[in-house]
Amino acid sequence: MKPVKFFNSLGRRLQEFEPLEPAHVGLYTCGPTVYDRIHIGNLRTFIFEDILRRTLRFFGYRVTQAMNLTDVEDKIIAAALEAEVDIDAFTAPHVESFFEDLAALRVERVEHYPRATEHVAEMIAMIERLLAAGYAYRADDSVFFRIAADHDYGKLSGIDLDQVRRGQRVQSDEYGKQDARDFVLWKGAKEGEPEWPSPWGPGRPGWHIECSAMSQKYLGKTFDIHCGGVDNLFPHHENEIAQSESANCCPLARYWLHSEHLTVDGEKMSKSLGNCYTLGDLLDRGLPARSIRYLLASVHYRQQLDFTFDKLAEAGRALKRIDDMRFRLAHEAEKDGDSASLDLAADDFENAFAAALADDLNTAAALGAVFTFVHAVNGFIDHGLPHGARARVQAALDRADQVLAVLDAGEWAGSPEAGGGLSDAEIDALVEARSDARASRNFAAADRIRDQLSEAGVVVEDTPDGSRWKRA
Ligand SMILES: [Zn+2]
Repeated sequence: MKPVKFFNSLGRRLQEFEPLEPAHVGLYTCGPTVYDRIHIGNLRTFIFEDILRRTLRFFGYRVTQAMNLTDVEDKIIAAALEAEVDIDAFTAPHVESFFEDLAALRVERVEHYPRATEHVAEMIAMIERLLAAGYAYRADDSVFFRIAADHDYGKLSGIDLDQVRRGQRVQSDEYGKQDARDFVLWKGAKEGEPEWPSPWGPGRPGWHIECSAMSQKYLGKTFDIHCGGVDNLFPHHENEIAQSESANCCPLARYWLHSEHLTVDGEKMSKSLGNCYTLGDLLDRGLPARSIRYLLASVHYRQQLDFTFDKLAEAGRALKRIDDMRFRLAHEAEKDGDSASLDLAADDFENAFAAALADDLNTAAALGAVFTFVHAVNGFIDHGLPHGARARVQAALDRADQVLAVLDAGEWAGSPEAGGGLSDAEIDALVEARSDARASRNFAAADRIRDQLSEAGVVVEDTPDGSRWKRA
């Protein structure tokens, strides 16, 4: 097997991937702040991370992944105060909608979803270690990280600290800072805000410390891969490194992978432009979830992705080419033919697909390999499908779909907004083919077609007047 390579943001170079433990990967991915519906920019990052997770498994690694849920934070507190509910009541529906959105796009559940509010003790313990080692200081009721004490601060982002010093405004609740660059680890309590007891008095944790404390708890002091959107690279990930490595005296993560921004119609997403689409906005317009996943996965994660409705329609057409081939494949009789060259085409596809993913998760090239294969299989169907072809092609596509999760319309047919699945004409043709098979007493073929229909969510009823069908 060819080695898997990733572009490591730490050091900014392509590197061969080797996990700490053989065949096991510890993966940390920064999760959502649960105060609103996530937008498609967030979804792009979560789909990139899902493809990464699935790719690691595709190459034989077991994955242990943790994704934090930020459920205490300035925006959450302000919104909960306004709604006159406590933060748990405020965040609960947003946590639910987050998981619904991921499920609708077939993003796999990961092993751990730790919540900030349930790990305050771990954060306090880490802050105490930073204070004891001189990396942090108390000011008023808060605790700050002292950047001047951390000699390799900035190694991830390559940030020019003098610019940070000049550019950064000191926030009113951070007047106690000794240096404008320092960042808060613990915020002293304010009237009406949620608070936890600590050695420095009541208060709440800063944002950055939660990922440092929770990644250590679930993955250990040093783990393999840390991911996020490129907007998290500075200051969030830089500060995570500063905290964890100063507290633990060892590297935090060995590989850092960042997905690029998503723009909409060439513009940055913003509330004022009204282009901060959520998944719900798109599904409400009748756009299929499957096409959305396809589009978000189709561009290499380190390239900006410009989201447009035209591209979404194009994604739907690309998927239809796959569906049409699979439909033809399912109905074409196998006969004596050139099965050696079909095997070769399938092998070529599987090799090209794996090589693309091993090359820094090049999903664009992996999809390119899929369409080359689709084209080749259509050629075989045109000239006579050899024995064993159907099973060979399906097995190759199924293996690829363990990573992409878009190639099988049947897998999406259950969701009402799926839109993929079989068209009415395709179902009619299948039902007719099944009736023909039954009439010629080819019951095995008839059953196969029935199974295919039922996988696509179609129920067939046999009546004295012939077969009828309906969508389940
Ligand atoms: Zn984080």
